[in-house]
Order: sequence, then C-alpha cells, then structure tokens
Amino acid sequence: MTLRVRFAPSPTGWLHLGNIRTAVINWMHAKQAGGDFLLRIDDTDLERSTDEFRAGIEEDLRWLGLDWDDYAKQSERFEAYDAARDGLIAAGRLYPCYETGAELELMRKTASIQGKPFIYNRATYPLSDEDEAAFKAEGRTPHWRFALTPGEIRWDDLARGDTSFEAENLSDPVLIRGDGSYLYTLCSVLDDIDLGMTDIIRGEDHTSNTATQIQLFEVLAAMKGLSDFSVPRFAHMPLVTGADGSKLSKSNGALSIRDLREDCGLEPLTIVTFLSRLGTPDGPQPVSAIDELAGSFDIARFGRSSPRMDPDELVPLNGKIVRQLPYAAVEGRFEGLNETRWAVIQPNLERLGDVADWLRLIEGPVTPVIEDAAFVETAAGLLPEGALNADSWSAWTDAVKAETGAKGRGLFMPLRQALTGQERGPEMAVLLPLLDRDKILARLRGEAA
Ligand code: GLU
Repeated sequence: MTLRVRFAPSPTGWLHLGNIRTAVINWMHAKQAGGDFLLRIDDTDLERSTDEFRAGIEEDLRWLGLDWDDYAKQSERFEAYDAARDGLIAAGRLYPCYETGAELELMRKTASIQGKPFIYNRATYPLSDEDEAAFKAEGRTPHWRFALTPGEIRWDDLARGDTSFEAENLSDPVLIRGDGSYLYTLCSVLDDIDLGMTDIIRGEDHTSNTATQIQLFEVLAAMKGLSDFSVPRFAHMPLVTGADGSKLSKSNGALSIRDLREDCGLEPLTIVTFLSRLGTPDGPQPVSAIDELAGSFDIARFGRSSPRMDPDELVPLNGKIVRQLPYAAVEGRFEGLNETRWAVIQPNLERLGDVADWLRLIEGPVTPVIEDAAFVETAAGLLPEGALNADSWSAWTDAVKAETGAKGRGLFMPLRQALTGQERGPEMAVLLPLLDRDKILARLRGEAA
C-alpha cells in the first residue's frame, strides 16, 4: 500500500518556520518511502479563511520545493460532511447538547477550582422530548457531540511510542457548532478516510484529539462499510520553541516564509534542510537538492523533547549551501554571470542575491568616490602590468604603500571607493581580477565606468 500523508493548513495566516516544519516532515516522510504528499486546505471556517492566504500557502510550498501529489479543499466537501453527520445521528453516536457557552464556561471553571480536568458530563444525553422542546422554546440551538465508547484507546505513536487514553477521561468532542458549522474533527477524520491517508504527522498539541478521532475513524469507516479499514499511523511531533526556549512566536523565531524569501534572501533549500533536521541529533548538512534530504530522512531520528529554533543558524547554513551549488543551479539566473565569474565569486557568498552586487561592480557603471585625486592618480600609475590575478591586489597595494607611505585604511579605502564607489563590499583581492583594465583605469580617473 502506498504511504500517504497530508499537510493540512488553515488558510487564516501565512506559513512560518513553526508550521511549515510539519509540512517538511510530512513531505520527507512520504518521499523517503516513495509515497504521496497531499495538500489539504482546511477552510471550513469561511469567515477567517481567505483566498489570499490559500494562494500564499501554495506559493510558499512550491517555492520551497514541497510539491504535492494530491490536493483537497474542505470547503468543497460539505456534502460529504453532511452525509457523515446524518449517519452519525442515525447511529445514535452524535447527540444534541443545549448548554450555552456561558454554562460550559462555568462548568470548566468549577472543575478547575476543584482541581479536576473538565470532562463533559453528558447532562442531557439521552434527552427527553419534553426537555428538548423546553430548550427549543427558550430559543436555544443545539451543538452536537460525538459519544465516545468507554474503554482504553491505544496506539503506537511514531514519535511518542506507546500512547494510551481512557475514553472515560475525555469529553465527548463537539463536531458541530450551534450554528450548524462543522468543527475540524469531523471534517479531518472523514477526509483522512476518503483520501486514503496512511500516516498522520502533526504537532503534539493534537495528541488528545487523536484519542477521540481514533474512535471516530472506526465508526465512520464502519458506516461506510470499509471492512478492511485500518486507522492511520500517527506521529505527534514535539512542538518547536523559540531560541529562548519559550513558546514560538513572531518575536522569537516564527519568521514567515515570505520574509525569509524576500527580506532575508535565503535559499528554499536552506529552510528545508534546516527544518528537516531540527529536533534530530543530525546537524543540518548542506546538500545540493531536496531529494538528497528525503533519501536520508527517518522520522525515528526525532527526539521527544521540544527543539529550540534559532533562525540565526539559517544564514551560515545558507552560505554553506550557496558555496557548494554547481554552476548549473545558477545558470541564467543573473545577467552577466558566467562560469569563470561564478567560480571566483562563489566562495565569497553568504546569499545568492549577493551575486547581483558583484556583477554590478564588475559590469558598471560605477560612479567613483575620490577624495584625494593625487593619491589615486599615483596608484593608477602603479597598477601591475598584464592580466590581473589573485595576487595583483597585494602587489599593487604594496607598491602604492612603498611609493606614498600610506597604510591600513588610508591605503585601501581610497582604492576601494574609487573602484566600487562604496566603503564596503566584496573583498578587493577577489574583485580586482574580475574587473576590466580599462574600467579600472577610468574609475581611477574619476570617470563613471
Ligand atoms: N488544520 C489543522 C491544524 O492546522 C490540521 C491538523 C491536522 O494535521 O490534523 O491544526
């Protein structure tokens, strides 16, 4: 049977380093087994879900190279949810509850004061016709809960190991709100059955949901007459914390994929490499393609404690990845880049975007900055003859030093400013041999070239 997993974001915000990790782990887990990765858009909350976020999520996943083999949208499956609802009601497993939000809140508070977990008491289940009529007369509309069967719910979690709950210690989950809208639980379980999921990998905040969902899987599969159905395998991954060990948030590491792409100029491969190893003892090794990561991926490598995410580790990793990209990976991406230039520039890069800065200086025009024209003119006369190479810069500056007595910043800065028009930038010894001799001489004369 083909292994099938899904990533199921709600399109109510942008993807960030925290939630995209689930996608990365799912994708890797599927690909290492030659399985399928499905993108499921959990957009039943019609008010908070937007098409802009949906499109943004898809764009981010594509950019990262996490292509999907199958696709579903919950908002297109309401008929299937309606049928499941009707079946569950007919089977006596879905029952109406008439408590108001305030009443439930009071029950929760009372339990908390008594130091007990809140477990819904099934106060009106079963409900007499008279009571039901009385609630309706008060103008109350029911929400609907799934009736759990007492007993142990147990599974062998791929991340947590043997996991068990007693159904008696869990509240019957609400599947339908008072306004008739569906909660995630019913939709998710039905989708997981209909779309043939074999493995469900998500954050450990879903662990107790899983206990109730396992019963729902069994009931819905039986209603569908799926006699050889088996409940998917689960992996509940420890949640990532920020670099400071506290809950992940915008300020301590949950950078959005758009920011990382647009403002930080990181390679998609850097982000995927980093996230596919975060939480394992294996440091992120630079690779040149995403498939290499999948080849060595093993969900059993993940530890049971919450890993800390430090986005500062991304830039050095990005540098390592960029510095080992073959020319073929960048060919055609920058006008003016050729294999010779790439070979010289590449060892100096932290970000691929820096290539554009190098090319701008090489191709010009650069407007020189010259404060001491006489000094620069003297230097121009001392530029080594013949083709410039990796030693030319030190030979040249030695000669200028001997002639003028200038040293340190006073020696290097006027030459840098004349040749690049700026105070900072690429290493001059590397840049110099890439510059055309005529351009060098023109810039030293103060001409834009
Ligand atoms: N839309 C759900 C969430 O983002 C999916 C959870 C799941 O993977 O089942 O929490």
